[in-house]
Amino acid sequence: MDGFASPLMLGFLGSLAAGLMTAVGALPVLAGREPGRAFRDMSLGFAAGVMLAASFFSLIIPALDAAGQTYGRGAIPALIACVSILIGMAAVHLMNEALPHEHFRMGREGPDAVALRRVWLFIFAITIHNFPEGLAVGVGFGAHGLEGGLPLAIGIGLQNAPEGLAVAVALLGEGYGRARAWVIAALTGLVEPLGGVLGAGLVSISEPLLPWGLAFAAGAMLYVISHEIIPETHRSGHQNKATLGLAVGLVVMLFLDVWLAG
Ligand SMILES: [Zn+2]
Repeated sequence: MDGFASPLMLGFLGSLAAGLMTAVGALPVLAGREPGRAFRDMSLGFAAGVMLAASFFSLIIPALDAAGQTYGRGAIPALIACVSILIGMAAVHLMNEALPHEHFRMGREGPDAVALRRVWLFIFAITIHNFPEGLAVGVGFGAHGLEGGLPLAIGIGLQNAPEGLAVAVALLGEGYGRARAWVIAALTGLVEPLGGVLGAGLVSISEPLLPWGLAFAAGAMLYVISHEIIPETHRSGHQNKATLGLAVGLVVMLFLDVWLAG
């Protein structure tokens, strides 16, 4: 029983549950109910809003608090947060740049190949940003137990559902079968428990790493919001619905975080 409640186990289970919400969100495509583009853009906007609020309320502010406990007031905590956020953004940028290009250079040319490549870049970005999301959930459980991890696990789980739906719908649009589209969407979420275990493990080993890890995860998420998710929701003329979704996601996560974390 002791092992069940250990930070590592909580981090694993919490991030696994959050990651599985990706598969749950993609379920409508299995049932044959393909949501319209406007609904998809609004729900993906919701995901962006949740991620935006989570970046600040669940990651950057806790990072500043943690650094403040070690270094006191002054410029150092802010400096640590700034540097880690930029490193997190740069890391996702470099991965985004480096990995997919060679893979697609050999593909066929023409508009089909371009559309397929764009879809896979989107899926790739969703997949890699799930790692810091899992990391954040794991760090939350590792550093502050159930109270620290639960709001993050719920918030991250909430925004994974529309992300899973978006991935599956994008694949359907490129001619993938329903089952395959769902499985690929589900797989993108299973990156999350990997980050969860690493986050919970790192924090229980090394307290000084905590502010760096939290702000790094925030930077990685902010990059994906700006570079992939928001542009994706604005490509088909549903900007108003996307922004409405973002507003709702932002306040839902803000409320959850302040309420559940006390
Ligand atoms: Zn996300």
